[in-house]
Amino acid sequence: MAYVNGRYVPHSAAVVHVEDRGYQFSDGVYEVCEVRGGGVIDERRHLDRLQRSLSELRIRPPMSRAALSVIMRETILKNRVGNGIVYLQVTRGVARRDHAFPPPDTVPGLVVSARNTDFVGNEKLAAAGIAVVTVPDDRWARPDIKTISLLPNVLAKQAAREQGAREAWFVDRQGYVTEGASTNAWIVTSEDRVVTRAADRGILRGITRTVLMEAINRQGLQFEECPFTLEEVFRAKEAFVTAASQVVMPVFRVNGRCIGNGSPGPIAQMLRRVFHNHTERS
Ligand code: PLP
Repeated sequence: MAYVNGRYVPHSAAVVHVEDRGYQFSDGVYEVCEVRGGGVIDERRHLDRLQRSLSELRIRPPMSRAALSVIMRETILKNRVGNGIVYLQVTRGVARRDHAFPPPDTVPGLVVSARNTDFVGNEKLAAAGIAVVTVPDDRWARPDIKTISLLPNVLAKQAAREQGAREAWFVDRQGYVTEGASTNAWIVTSEDRVVTRAADRGILRGITRTVLMEAINRQGLQFEECPFTLEEVFRAKEAFVTAASQVVMPVFRVNGRCIGNGSPGPIAQMLRRVFHNHTERS
């Protein structure tokens, strides 16, 4: 079942209008929250970021936070999601096709869906680690807004798949890794310093990233928010990615070259284990 503009409908009948501005212009934003044991992980932070994305694009919130929260929960229950994800998408609504904003009374579109993920499969993947390839970062200048406009991310992920990898890291014109197609990128240096790029306008401020920074701090690890190059990646002891759907996922290879000893690193594995001690569950 999915929630589509005011109604719960079977997934097969979950459709939006051809003139929805999300469909026409990618004029919308989204959020993905982890569901664990039937509860939503870090809902408050995700809804804060949703609010920010909406306000950056001047899209009216579709309803109150409390109402949105109820719909998320209902959708999780209706789909019997134990461990998985809940997806929210808000668009500027349905209007005759015209690039400029529609009339202010246009009702925003809201879609919520939820599904189980393969818990055991993900754990196996994390135990093995994933391979990453790099692609030029040719996205627009505001990847800090979580818009549904994801074409460069789609192409990057496909490039990864075609090279036998699970994730693609974007590299900017200065040669620094920005982030993954659907994850934030991290390394652990040879001095055991955990490094990720600062969340300026160049990347999405991942919720998993924010929570993990707290975990890193509590574990007494050295941490630095700093851009890193591919050369630094190859010199690193460890690499990993973070996202709500994958938590902390070790990276064992980048562009065909092994990172560290070519298997998931101890710090990444430890951070994956302790991550949920630092999250909010609702
Ligand atoms: N960066 C990009 C481009 C993403 O699409 C995502 C998640 O979808 C992330 C980073 C990680 O964000 P979060 O930890 O909030 O899932």
